[in-house]
This record gives sequence, C-alpha cells and structure tokens, in this order.
Amino acid sequence: MASPQQISVSMSYSRSSSNQVLVLNCGSSSLKFAVMNPRDGSVSVSGIGEALGQGEPVVSWKIDGDRQSTSLPKDTRHTEVIRFLVDEILAGHPDLGDQLIAIGHRVVHGGEKFSHSVLIDDAVIKAIQECVALAPLHNPAHLAGIEAAKDAFPKLPQVAVFDTAFHQSMPRHAFIYALPYALYRDNGIRRYGMHGTSHRFVTERAAELLNLSVNEVSIISAHLGNGASITAVRNGRSVDTSMGLTPLEGLVMGTRSGDVDPGLLMHLGSRMDYCLKEINDLLNKKSGLLGISELSNDCRTLEKAAEDGHDGAQLALEIFCYRLAKYIGSYHAVLPQVDALVFTGGIGENSSLIREKVMNQLRGIGYAVDGEKNARARFGEEGPISADHSAVTLVIPTNEEWVIARDAAELVSPHIPDSGPSSRE
Ligand code: AMP
Repeated sequence: MASPQQISVSMSYSRSSSNQVLVLNCGSSSLKFAVMNPRDGSVSVSGIGEALGQGEPVVSWKIDGDRQSTSLPKDTRHTEVIRFLVDEILAGHPDLGDQLIAIGHRVVHGGEKFSHSVLIDDAVIKAIQECVALAPLHNPAHLAGIEAAKDAFPKLPQVAVFDTAFHQSMPRHAFIYALPYALYRDNGIRRYGMHGTSHRFVTERAAELLNLSVNEVSIISAHLGNGASITAVRNGRSVDTSMGLTPLEGLVMGTRSGDVDPGLLMHLGSRMDYCLKEINDLLNKKSGLLGISELSNDCRTLEKAAEDGHDGAQLALEIFCYRLAKYIGSYHAVLPQVDALVFTGGIGENSSLIREKVMNQLRGIGYAVDGEKNARARFGEEGPISADHSAVTLVIPTNEEWVIARDAAELVSPHIPDSGPSSRE
C-alpha cells in the first residue's frame, strides 16, 4: 500500500466524491488537523496536538468515531505532530491517505496581498513571512506547518486560506484609521479584520437558507467565541468588520478588551508604569469577560455563576451583550438592507441567554426573539430564532474547516490529470 507521502493527486474533485483534503490549522502551540470530504464536509479523521513546545505535548484524535490520545516527547513541534499523523494515524488507514488530493492551511494574516485562497508556492510563503509583523503569534506557526506538511507530503499541492481574505472587499472609508495617512501608505497600518473564513461560511449558508444567491444576500454576521467579531456583509461581500489591525479591536471577548479609549495606553504607560508587554498582556489576556467578572473567560461558567447571583459574572455578560448590540445597531446604519442577523461561534451557536439579551436590547430596531426556537437552537442546531414579526435572526453553526477543504479542492482540480485513479504515482 502506498503511504500518504507517496500519493500524488489522483482524481478530479469535480468527478469524484471520494477525494479528501487534509485541513491544517497551526497555532503557536497547537496544531488542529482534519481529513475532510470537501463535497459534504464529512470528517473521517480529526485531532489536535496541544502544548507544543511547552510542558507536556499531547495529541488526541478521532477516527471512525473512536477517540484516542497519547503524550508526545517534550520537544514536539508542528513537524512531529504531522509525522505522527502520517506514521501512526493515517498509516493504519492507507485508504484515507490514498484519497488525499490537497492540504489546506488556515493562515490568519495575508495582509493586503490575498483576497482569495491560493496555491502555496515560494512567492506565497514569502508574502506570509512579510505579514509576520501583523500576526506574530500565528503566521510563524503557519509557516512551520506548511514546511512540515511539504516534507511529509511532497507531492500534494498545498493551499493557503486566509482569515483576512474575506474582508479585503471593505471600502477604504471602513478600513483606514483616522491617523496620518502615511502610516497606512508606508507601514500598512489599517483595519484588516479576522474570522473571515467563518463570516464567509455563514454568509454562504445564510444565502441558501434565505433562498437568495450569495451575491444578493446582506447580513450581519456575529461570530462569538473566545475571540469574537462581527461583520457587515452587503451583497455577499464584507463591507465592515469589528476586528482591526489586530484581533484586539471590536467586541468584548473571552480575555480581550475589544474597543478601549487609545488614551488608556498612554495613561497606563505614563501614570501607572506599565511596560508594553504588560499593556499587551492586560488587553489581550486579562481583560474581556475574564477581566470584568474576575472569575472566568468561559461563557458557560459565567452564565451559571450569574444565575447564582455572582455580580462580576452578571456585569460581564451585560457588558458583552450591550456592546454587541451597539455594533449590530451601527451595522444597520452601514447596510441599506439586512436580510438576517446571524449568530455563530461557540457562544453564538449555544448561548440562548446571550442571544436573547442582545435581541431584547435591539427591540427598538425590530428584533424580537422566539423563546422556543431560541432554546432549541443549540449544540449544532441551525435555524431561525426570531419571532414572526421580528427582523430575521438565524443561528448557523460555523465550519471554517469545510471552507478550507472546499477552497483547496477547487484550487487543485484544474491541476489534476484526467486519467483518474490509474494516474497515481
Ligand atoms: P469558540 O472559541 O468558538 O470555541 O467558543 C468558546 C466559547 O463558547 C466559550 O466562551 C464557551 O463558554 C462558549 N460556549 C460553548 N458552549 C456553550 C454553551 N452551551 N452555552 C454557553 N456558552 C457556550
């Protein structure tokens, strides 16, 4: 049997339903992987390597419904996790490895260079390197993952899918900060936005649910997870989004502050002797739901504590919902027409409490929640949660991996020889 690294592109995506894409999402200390059918999003293998380069790395995975995990040596990094995937996980299922047609990488920052997914070549690698300053934790990890995947699967084409790409359609008035223009022209300082792959998935799915074509659907997409962002989508294209130069701007998040008065930074530095690293840690790791509640960044914990009367938890959830509702209101000003408000992400997909609070806050502009539908829309359930007379509101579970797998499959299919499985090397 051929091992995965010996397999080259074998069949056309457009003609076969059996082709699989390996989706990789490399973080600074983690690597998530999934082998996915780009046609229907079904996953045959999924897993995660965690604590890479830290204390006790562990890889856990699920194959054929069977969950396993094992610890890995202390110095394990992305390369070793990919080798483990090839040698230990896929080797036992050569049929799966045989079906791989491409590798799709999530890449957080593509700067202004990429408005679509691309096949990875040396120029793309160089461009991802050039964006390291804009995503210092993520882009180096993606580059490490791309190199490791190239070594492990030398014959498979690799595709980069950028979190920033969907937001490249934003007009200048939405992405330029009111700073000296030279900072944009000479240093690329502007709003880029993130979570684009999720907002794109939700946009396409909302169009299907609303019986509209993608290029005529206009939505407000609220991706609420540990990181949270909201996007105004007009005719299928992002026209504004809440994250900016970095993923810190915008909504209140698990541990990130979202919008603050920039004067705060000078105050912390000059009056309170914070150094830059301390300011960075404060805003990125100690703020948001965690900072306000002094309890947790986890919405489930906060909901329970709030119910039990914990004042910090109650305040954190109030502020989260209030600020989110303000953004939704402002995006109604951005969009001439809104076909639907969409909730997604761990909180958006599961927290009926947050959704209800936000929609109640928005009563003045026509939102009303349907209590029963809202209570039902959890744990992967999709559908409307608005009352009949309300502005349409949907819950759509996001699936960034599927977008990555689809883009990868679509980009490689023109390169695939016509002769079918027998063309395999
Ligand atoms: P994500 O980053 O998209 O995985 O989302 C993580 C967030 O979703 C955390 O704050 C979780 O507490 C929250 N979350 C997940 N499940 C639920 C749930 N059933 N109810 C409320 N929040 C949830």
